[in-house]
Amino acid sequence: MIDFRLDDEYDALRKTVQDFAQNEVAPVIGGFYEREEFPYALVAKMGEMGLFGLPFAEEFGGMGGDYFALCLALEELARVDSSVAITLEAGVSLGAMPIYRFGTEEQKRRWLPALCSGEALGAFGLTEPGGGSDAGATRTTAKLVDGEWVINGSKSFITNSGTDITRLVTVTAVTGQKPDGRKEISAIILPSGTDGFAVAPKYSKVGWNASDTHELSFSDCRVPEENLLGERGRGYAQFLSILDEGRVAIAALSVGLAQGCVDECLRYVGEREAFGHKIGAYQAIQFKIADMEMRTHTARLAYYAAASKMLRGEPFKKEAAIAKLTASNAAMDNSREATQIFGGYGFMNEFPVGRFYRDAKILEIGEGTSEVQRMLIARELGLR
Ligand SMILES: Cc1cc2nc3c(=O)[nH]c(=O)nc-3n(C[C@H](O)[C@H](O)[C@H](O)COP(=O)(O)OP(=O)(O)OC[C@H]3O[C@@H](n4cnc5c(N)ncnc54)[C@H](O)[C@@H]3O)c2cc1C
Repeated sequence: MIDFRLDDEYDALRKTVQDFAQNEVAPVIGGFYEREEFPYALVAKMGEMGLFGLPFAEEFGGMGGDYFALCLALEELARVDSSVAITLEAGVSLGAMPIYRFGTEEQKRRWLPALCSGEALGAFGLTEPGGGSDAGATRTTAKLVDGEWVINGSKSFITNSGTDITRLVTVTAVTGQKPDGRKEISAIILPSGTDGFAVAPKYSKVGWNASDTHELSFSDCRVPEENLLGERGRGYAQFLSILDEGRVAIAALSVGLAQGCVDECLRYVGEREAFGHKIGAYQAIQFKIADMEMRTHTARLAYYAAASKMLRGEPFKKEAAIAKLTASNAAMDNSREATQIFGGYGFMNEFPVGRFYRDAKILEIGEGTSEVQRMLIARELGLR
């Protein structure tokens, strides 16, 4: 059956997040962005609303919802601001989800309640200074010595890794060699504050300026053997499956940004005049907005389709890559056109479209670049 309507629970969630984004995020986020400051109070409010626990079972402090609910929340947040949206996306889908999917009962009970409440944040450390697309090239090592993992190496561009409320980073590390000579890569939970775990000052970024991103380094960091997450040697495969889901979330976030561009332009072209008419009366402007709407709509359908396969438990790798590629292109194109429609004001930080423009580019890079999405689609089509 084909039915694209949202059921009442999803719709109610979407409206609640929309109200929060418009009434509480929109008025203040520009200031946080310009000051490059992490919005702790907004994150705490999102925690109280249950957003960080959306797809997790109630027994671990979650809301008992699903991944699509998270996507809807991300779309509505990113319609207003992407820094807040990526903080939620990374906190849930990269910080907490690996523990939820692969953790032992004890690990889940220990870490998830605080992550689900938004009181604490978790991060996901895969990318290294030497490369992100080729995640198997991991150089960070973890050696088992007297019942402890001793971790050495570094990670770059890690979201939510250095806030005052960051409690852990799950890192991939080489823990040995497989019989076929390839690296054995495992995932290990590294609590914040562990001796030898250094968090560099935050990066100066082009966009997502109210979100938290750091380079991390590990020098003889010791954690108990039981901090291994999932099976030894399965770290790479586990992270790839987390990234498949994450791509649907990033697609939803991208659709939100693309929609935000349409929202802002519809408002602006009804007010701004040139040559004696509202600029919205000119067909050149109308066509730009019609194209923006078309891209947003198509991208939304793409992520709904990927999410629906994911929720049914069917393979969704190809659909997730298509959704991420389509939606990040839509976000980039819409933000460029929206900035153009705003003219000089589009280049001023006082209007959100300039922020959307700066925030859109990373969507074509993070959680797999556009080239990587094409590689995945081609592979799923049997091309090697
Ligand atoms: C703000 C921000 C937040 C991030 N948050 C996180 C995080 O929380 N956790 C985390 O682990 N990572 C995070 N990342 C890292 C991000 O996922 C990587 O930057 C991304 O995957 C690309 O890796 P790279 O930067 O090493 O680029 P590279 O892998 O060096 O790629 C460089 C270029 O080469 C292209 N390329 C590479 N291989 C091929 C190929 N085989 N064929 C064709 N083209 C190719 C790429 O598409 C790209 O255009 C974040 C990055 C940013 C900027």
